[in-house]
Amino acid sequence: MSDFLSELRAALGADAVAEGKAAEALAQSRWQRLGRPLAVVRPRSTAEVSTILRLAHAAGQPVTAWGGRTGLVEGAQADGALALSLERMDRILEVDPAGGTMTVEAGCILQSACEAAEAKGCQFPLDLGARGSATIGGNIATNAGGNRVIRFGMMRDMVLGLEAVLADGTVVSSMNRLIKNNAGYDLKQLFIGTEGTLGVVTRAVLRLRALPASQDTAFLAVDAFEKLPRLLRRLEQGLGGALSAFEVLWADFYQLVTSAPATNRPVLPWGHPYYVLTESLGGDREADAERFLRVLTEALETGEIADAAIAKSQAERDEMWALRDDVGQTSRHRPIYTFDVSLGIADMEAYVAAVRASLAERWPAFTLMVFGHLGDGNLHLIAGVGAGGPEVRRAVEERIYRPLAAIGGSISAEHGVGLQKRDFLALSRSAEEIALMRTLKRALDPRGILNPGKIFEA
Ligand code: ZN
Repeated sequence: MSDFLSELRAALGADAVAEGKAAEALAQSRWQRLGRPLAVVRPRSTAEVSTILRLAHAAGQPVTAWGGRTGLVEGAQADGALALSLERMDRILEVDPAGGTMTVEAGCILQSACEAAEAKGCQFPLDLGARGSATIGGNIATNAGGNRVIRFGMMRDMVLGLEAVLADGTVVSSMNRLIKNNAGYDLKQLFIGTEGTLGVVTRAVLRLRALPASQDTAFLAVDAFEKLPRLLRRLEQGLGGALSAFEVLWADFYQLVTSAPATNRPVLPWGHPYYVLTESLGGDREADAERFLRVLTEALETGEIADAAIAKSQAERDEMWALRDDVGQTSRHRPIYTFDVSLGIADMEAYVAAVRASLAERWPAFTLMVFGHLGDGNLHLIAGVGAGGPEVRRAVEERIYRPLAAIGGSISAEHGVGLQKRDFLALSRSAEEIALMRTLKRALDPRGILNPGKIFEA
């Protein structure tokens, strides 16, 4: 056992540190392999996180923080690093409905946070497929997005304050509870979306919203791409700001998730090029349902939608969301490559056509599933080309990412960069932007121990 691990055990107790086979077992996530960490350490408090980082800093030992390990870009890959799992720091410390805040430890599971808020008549509006495993700390470190960004923004917009431990063990407690606070730099932003490269988040103050009284959900069919942005504007305007989801499923994806072995039944018949899952959250059940129906009727009359189904029960609503969330069906075409890109809605149709053409050029039997948060300009593309290996992966990535530079798109809308996208960062960020990122990294982590090699090369 290394001196570093002996010191760690002496400081935290033997049961806080797992090595060898036990560490490897912890590194098997449902979603991804996380490499071979030196050891996995599971602190119980901010003070213990501080001790871990102080020792790691002195030893020059790389540390990768782990939340729910549901990320998709290998941001939690911990090969040779000390994996710092926040799983024991999962408490909900306070829910304050009057102040509209809740305070949690970083290892708190997203779904638990949402349920605790609801129990007090409030809503924490972050919603994503991995809600049962993802943690608040991980959501912060990756600036998670998900299904309701169009209404409530990304994780960044839901964090009022946080506490983080710096590379040398310094605890920076910035547990602001105020919505407005322009007293100097907004330091929490250093730790939101920076993928654990500038500090380890240990606690957070989250902003709560009013629990909606109404939830209206519909599944729509649209027969031409240019009608999608018109429909989106109609819903935004007609629903008076209550629109909370505008998810689009391309026909290939819709057919995949509604045919065996998938267990979902089609909500609307096959044969349309686009399907939309839309939702509105409001404060008045009857009036909101009436308005929802009226706006959809108008869209039907103008031809913006070709067909529609409105959920009449929670079961029907769940059925609609189950289609959208059944992304696992894409693994039928293994090996697959998953992408998360951002671009203007006006550019989407041509972009997807260009990607299809360039995949077809080399792999005529390719598959490309497209769906995403169209209201946020965020598409998920899942490509299968019938082959695997690093060279093929790189060739597929080139075809997905290169066309984004010319149209001002981003190689990552919500998944982050991690290891997977770092070679393409320069397509979305200027040399000056990347240099400033490196300046921040050097200032906060001079020995380069925090999640090294993620976002850009160490
Ligand atoms: Zn998404």
